[in-house]
Amino acid sequence: MNIKTTVNYLEEVNKYSAKNYNPLPLILEKGHGIFVYDIENNKYIDMLSSYSALNYGHRHPKIINALIEQASNITLTSRAFHNTEMGPFLKKLCEISGFDQGLLMNSGAEAVETGLKAARKWGYINKGIEENAGEIIVCSNNFHGRTISIVSFSTEEQYKKGFGPYTPGFKSIPFGDTDALKKAITPNTVAFLMEPIQGEAGVIVPKEGILKEIKEICKTNNILFILDEIQTGFGRTGKNFAFQHEDASPDVLLVGKALGGGVYPVSAMLSNKEIMDVFKPGDHGSTFGGNPLGAAVGIASLDVLLEEDLARKSLELGKYFIDELGKLNSPYVKEIRGKGLLIGVEIKEEYGGARKFCEKLMTLGLLCKETHEHTIRFAPPLIISKEEIDHCLSIIKEVLCNPI
Ligand SMILES: *Cc1c(COP(=O)(O)O)cnc(C)c1O
Repeated sequence: MNIKTTVNYLEEVNKYSAKNYNPLPLILEKGHGIFVYDIENNKYIDMLSSYSALNYGHRHPKIINALIEQASNITLTSRAFHNTEMGPFLKKLCEISGFDQGLLMNSGAEAVETGLKAARKWGYINKGIEENAGEIIVCSNNFHGRTISIVSFSTEEQYKKGFGPYTPGFKSIPFGDTDALKKAITPNTVAFLMEPIQGEAGVIVPKEGILKEIKEICKTNNILFILDEIQTGFGRTGKNFAFQHEDASPDVLLVGKALGGGVYPVSAMLSNKEIMDVFKPGDHGSTFGGNPLGAAVGIASLDVLLEEDLARKSLELGKYFIDELGKLNSPYVKEIRGKGLLIGVEIKEEYGGARKFCEKLMTLGLLCKETHEHTIRFAPPLIISKEEIDHCLSIIKEVLCNPI
């Protein structure tokens, strides 16, 4: 093994890597469960979980076994042929989500693009909207990925500046504003796209019952309700999917991140058969989408979610975590919000951003990252125990209840 110091490594990566991120100066070498270790053998609790891709922790043995076993059989077939894993994987995914069919892709952004394509074509076929006139309504402060079409409807200046010309056909309304949604719908509207909780925007939780209301509005107006659960899915908010809190199943569900168990990129668009049928052979595809390695990992990941009852754990531990954070009575905190183990702690503006709180937490062995400047996001792997949360709370208390 090539033993490197942190400084040497940073020199190398800074020389050869694009600077599209600004990571903390921490070089991770090993991960196990909720823990990660850097190259100087410091141990940390991972409270970011790679933006919820690591719901089952690092290197869950069942998922790693599935990976190794499948890698010793066949890894890639392309969709020119069938493989043994894709069918069983989709069956399982459809059963736990309640949808008829799925279309497998790799990254979250690709799943979103797939949903947008489906909605447009559905509108042209089923609503008789004139081709190229379809409109999709989105929310301000959304995060749905980084492709040109997706950043075209971002309201975040930095995500889009310099990347135009933008894809037309999108309209933005304030998040959670059902009156604005009703007003924005026109005869050319094909769909409304939202996140059930806006993660990247700072863990913004809309009012109770909103998904049900939106589902009704979409149904009444004959437009598709597309829900992006790439970050909120697979137990993160205390249910397998956030829409299950309100029994408000969307027309199109987008999933990714934890679907690949934190080891392999797997994403999907899910819907009923009528919507999925807009895709004919040759309409859409991906070389790696539906590959047997990703599918085998996906099956094992769904098994872990169900066998370990992680949604229920997330619900209970999330409530406990939020309650205990409130009891800290920190002078820095403006608001604590969240659902399940997706928790945001917003720091009052006068303290100049959440980053320095995250840096201090890191020095005490707890990894997390600020989101939208003023909010610390706590999103540990769902396999975390109550005792481990208590340990995290003692670290958080040291940072939030002492001079910064
Ligand atoms: C991460 C994320 C995406 C994009 O996923 P990638 O795999 O990074 O392309 C889309 N939507 C939401 C809500 C996300 O959190």
